[in-house]
Amino acid sequence: MQVSMINLTQDLVASGGGQLHTSVAKKGKTSVYDFSRCKLCGEKAAAPKYKLKQMLLYACSNCDFHYIDALDDFPDEQPEESLLTEKVRNFIESKLPQNAIQLDKNLQFVKAHVALSGMHCLDIGSGAGLFPSLLKGARAVPHGIEPQEIFREFAMKKFHLSVRRELIDDSYWQNEYPGFFDVVTLWDTLEHVNFPAETLKAACRVIKPGGYLFLDTPSRDSFFYRASVWSYRFSQGRNPLLLNTLYSPKPYGHKQIFTTAQLWTLLESSGFSVVGRSAFHRSRNKLVVVCRKNTA
Ligand SMILES: [Zn+2]
Repeated sequence: MQVSMINLTQDLVASGGGQLHTSVAKKGKTSVYDFSRCKLCGEKAAAPKYKLKQMLLYACSNCDFHYIDALDDFPDEQPEESLLTEKVRNFIESKLPQNAIQLDKNLQFVKAHVALSGMHCLDIGSGAGLFPSLLKGARAVPHGIEPQEIFREFAMKKFHLSVRRELIDDSYWQNEYPGFFDVVTLWDTLEHVNFPAETLKAACRVIKPGGYLFLDTPSRDSFFYRASVWSYRFSQGRNPLLLNTLYSPKPYGHKQIFTTAQLWTLLESSGFSVVGRSAFHRSRNKLVVVCRKNTA
């Protein structure tokens, strides 16, 4: 789920993309989840700490996890008509070259650890299908998950890739593919999902023992994040700098951002051993990580 692809849906809605309104997840479930229960450690120890634009940023007093009070709903039914108008298709096409640069670097990172030929690879949050198409080009067997119908349709038309709508914790994956995949990737996805701890545990179950998980996600240790928190406090909430753009209550927006230590701990408790950070990615604003599923 590459960032610009997700923003793309929001951009289209904002620019009057018409029937797209019916395809995006509504801000929902908010009323049924008790946000005082930390989404990372599970303790009932979180409280709203930062009041942002149309959202509250919670912080956990037990593990210091930061997340906003918004969750996505997923439509049960597929829309009857195609959402992929020519305008939308052109819009997605126009974003591909920029995404390709990033995803090609991600592919190099994966290749540095795994000989991909013949490997079953699952890309969770595959957006328009670009990364599965790169996997296919590397002679791997690509699989993909993408909740947004419009991107699945695009992936089929552009790359001839059948991407699934069922999320990773769905029985479709959990029952049919336990211990199946050699590689699972989560590019710019973990910050978007409703419950990242559950997502990683579900991802772990479908990976072979010794198989690989690769992911990237924004880093809370970045200068921008720390400066924004500092500015919020110093201005008593009047100037949150980038906090309003690092998070978003809109459908498929950023719901949580991890520190390095939090992500490491979560990966280790989800059944993985962290191998290390990417040598191909130099930005300090992102955590780009490879880990392996434990064998016992
Ligand atoms: Zn916590």
